[in-house]
Amino acid sequence: MKGELPVTRYALRVTIIAKQYHQSHITHHASRITSMRERIVTAQQIEEDKDNDSIRPGTIGEYIGQERVVENLRISIKAALMRQEPLDHVLFYGPPGLGKTTLAKIIASEMGGKIISSSGPALEKAHDLVGILTNLNQGDILFIDEIHRLNRVVEEFLYPAMEDFQIDFVIDKGPYAKTIKLDLKKFTLVGATTRKGLITAPLRDRFGILHHLDFYTVEELEKIVFRASRILNVHIDDGGAGEIARRSRGTPRIANRLLHRVRDYAQVKGGGKITKDIADESLRLQGVDKMGLDMLDRSFLEVIIDVYNGGPVGIEAIAATLNEEKDTLEDTVEPFLLKIGFLLRTPSGRRASNGAYEHLGRTPKVITEQGLLFLPADK
Ligand code: ADP
Repeated sequence: MKGELPVTRYALRVTIIAKQYHQSHITHHASRITSMRERIVTAQQIEEDKDNDSIRPGTIGEYIGQERVVENLRISIKAALMRQEPLDHVLFYGPPGLGKTTLAKIIASEMGGKIISSSGPALEKAHDLVGILTNLNQGDILFIDEIHRLNRVVEEFLYPAMEDFQIDFVIDKGPYAKTIKLDLKKFTLVGATTRKGLITAPLRDRFGILHHLDFYTVEELEKIVFRASRILNVHIDDGGAGEIARRSRGTPRIANRLLHRVRDYAQVKGGGKITKDIADESLRLQGVDKMGLDMLDRSFLEVIIDVYNGGPVGIEAIAATLNEEKDTLEDTVEPFLLKIGFLLRTPSGRRASNGAYEHLGRTPKVITEQGLLFLPADK
């Protein structure tokens, strides 16, 4: 047909465009927006965490905690290697800072492939993915963080890539527009999200392996603190590691950050050694209390207790009162308060539990069967 380019020229253009996109659109973890008030106990990645690669576990054997997930992954990886097939696509979900990116990197190294990292918001157009996908080999990992934030068009573009290892690539515009199919190597997509509920059913269904990461126990965090201390050459005793672990909100990223902060304090005030007292003083000075709560957590609970009489109250109202983003509260404040039972989520809104009242030094209230709140008679 007149005007149609020869097939070889299509192929050439596809290769050139693919290379261009490959160069310009690989992002290593889109920079994440942190709260207006930078918090020492935020689970989101902040500037000071960025040079932490030396303490990130590099092999499955070094990974501490999440035993069920790790055991299942070991089996899936071994089976895939035995069959000489790629690993099924994997979706990790759970609060930030618990090790989703770390596991994606570990999968790549165990599968003997490379990892290309991007994130939902960074992939704005389907074309952004063409270069990335066509450069992947069998066993390679495409890691997409915050995958719930992919836009619809990009998400739909991924479906055939995940399912049939093929993409439809539109080339040229107007009357010359052509769709050509490109075959991909059998890669593995690893998606991570803090909001499983926001992932569409068609995308979720295309993952063969789904794992939920939960908060770590204090014992596991102690091991993480000791491991990081060894790598960083930090002198720490059991009491010091325990104190940091207890205040890390079940989150390795926070444990590592607190360790760095306490190390500085110990250097100046404690002759370089982190003990229970040094960790306690240092963290108290930085506004992190015994449970790992900071100003924002305490203000969050105080708003519910003092302004809304213990709740129930909607998250929008709390966010407006605190002048904070609703998403920040939902992502970085609520999960841990829910986990330790200070916050209750009911169909009619958020409530502060008796534990929260006690932690803040208030007189607990009693909830009657009718849902009314009153002070106990003996108080
Ligand atoms: P996510 O992707 O879930 O936000 P990351 O994988 O980036 O979290 O982990 C955050 C930090 O915590 C990393 O710097 C890593 O070193 C550390 N970390 C995560 N999981 C573990 C673990 N199981 N053992 C030791 N350190 C961990």
